[in-house]
Amino acid sequence: MDLGLSPDQLALRDRARDLAQTVVRPRAADIDAQEQYPWDIVEALKRAGFLGMTIPPAYGGQGRSFLDTVLVIEEMARCCTVTARIVVETNMGAISTVMAYGTEEQKALAASLVLSGDKPAICITEPEAGSDTTAMTTRADRRGDRYIINGRKHWITGGGVSRLHLIFARVFDERGEELGIGGFLAVRDEAKGLRVLRRERTMGLRGMPEGELAFEDLEVPAHMAVLPPSGFKRGFADLMNAYNSQRVGAGTVAMGIAAGALDLAVDFAKRRRQFGRPIGEFQGLQWMLADMQTQVTAARLMLHAAARSRGAGGAFPDPALAAQAKIFASEAAIRVVNDALQMFGARGYSRDLPLERMARDVRMFTIGGGTAQVLRTLVASRLLGWKLPQTRDGYVKESTPPLAAE
Ligand code: FAD
Repeated sequence: MDLGLSPDQLALRDRARDLAQTVVRPRAADIDAQEQYPWDIVEALKRAGFLGMTIPPAYGGQGRSFLDTVLVIEEMARCCTVTARIVVETNMGAISTVMAYGTEEQKALAASLVLSGDKPAICITEPEAGSDTTAMTTRADRRGDRYIINGRKHWITGGGVSRLHLIFARVFDERGEELGIGGFLAVRDEAKGLRVLRRERTMGLRGMPEGELAFEDLEVPAHMAVLPPSGFKRGFADLMNAYNSQRVGAGTVAMGIAAGALDLAVDFAKRRRQFGRPIGEFQGLQWMLADMQTQVTAARLMLHAAARSRGAGGAFPDPALAAQAKIFASEAAIRVVNDALQMFGARGYSRDLPLERMARDVRMFTIGGGTAQVLRTLVASRLLGWKLPQTRDGYVKESTPPLAAE
């Protein structure tokens, strides 16, 4: 299928496919079974130039687009979900936030960490503040030339392996007056007061730690506050825009898992014989395969369109397109992987084949990075031209233009 990719993008995709199939695929089962972060794969990604691709050349990166990154993510996700997520989080999310809103010093710090193999952590979710992010209670109190951060976060991807942390907290000035929600950069091992309390026991994605973190009088120099031009009061919405790239990335991981499962199903349908013929000759399975392919293609087209789009401000994909692409891709991928597993019969249920791992991994993508329900709320709010109903006044932009006007 012609996706309108340039010769450079086709070459990039081929390079990613080669690395994924020769180096990443053989490691995938082991990464899952051992539940260990794959530092050897990080090294391979770094050598191939797949970490920090979106970082501008002025900071040592390649200045590649989100679409370029999406091409690499799909190839990795076909073979290993954890590897694909490392590509997402070293090119989108926290690193994009810093590149869009950071000072020169912050950009140089973030770029040097990511390009040397660090997967930054983005710390928003708290035990009592999940979808309702603005209910967070972690606070940053200004004391002279620094902020003192106290609070707890959980389900932080990379907890215990990430060095760079982008921490979201309610900001208070010297007089104790609340200014809004801000982002702060801290480097684990250099900053005292950042502790990893525990690792979640996850259903899938077992090579990627999800950590509960405590900030206990964590001191962050004031110049490490990531401040959009809109300031603390309205800056949270701008900082959260980073999630629009992350959402496109997460949707692509889900789509890539589905594409990988479909490859396996097609191959099996040609080889497995029952009733004297390949099972792919049964129309019931042909229609299943056709529906799987249709869903993967539709998801890929939506994700590419979202990756190419630019929302207000220009730095990140359009929020509604990114949300729609993630909703569709994550839900379609669960169906596709489930159908692929079904086509394998008993073998699909065995831990000796990758399908059971893919079924566990793919389940995450309707939850993390904005649940499918909350993203639907975002899409509906754009349709209606209303503010998001679940955010508190004072931290969101005024109503965005309705979709119909676009
Ligand atoms: P809740 O908000 O408690 O939601 C419970 C249910 O209610 C869900 O089904 C939800 O869809 C529904 N719901 C809630 N509000 C509404 C509404 N207004 N309308 C309709 N339905 C609603 N967080 C980070 O900060 N950093 C990370 O790196 C990170 N990584 C993650 C990795 C994984 C593998 C997972 C699973 C989560 C991760 N998260 C991370 C947390 C994730 O962003 C949250 O789990 C998610 O935002 C939902 O919050 P919650 O789990 O508290 O669910």
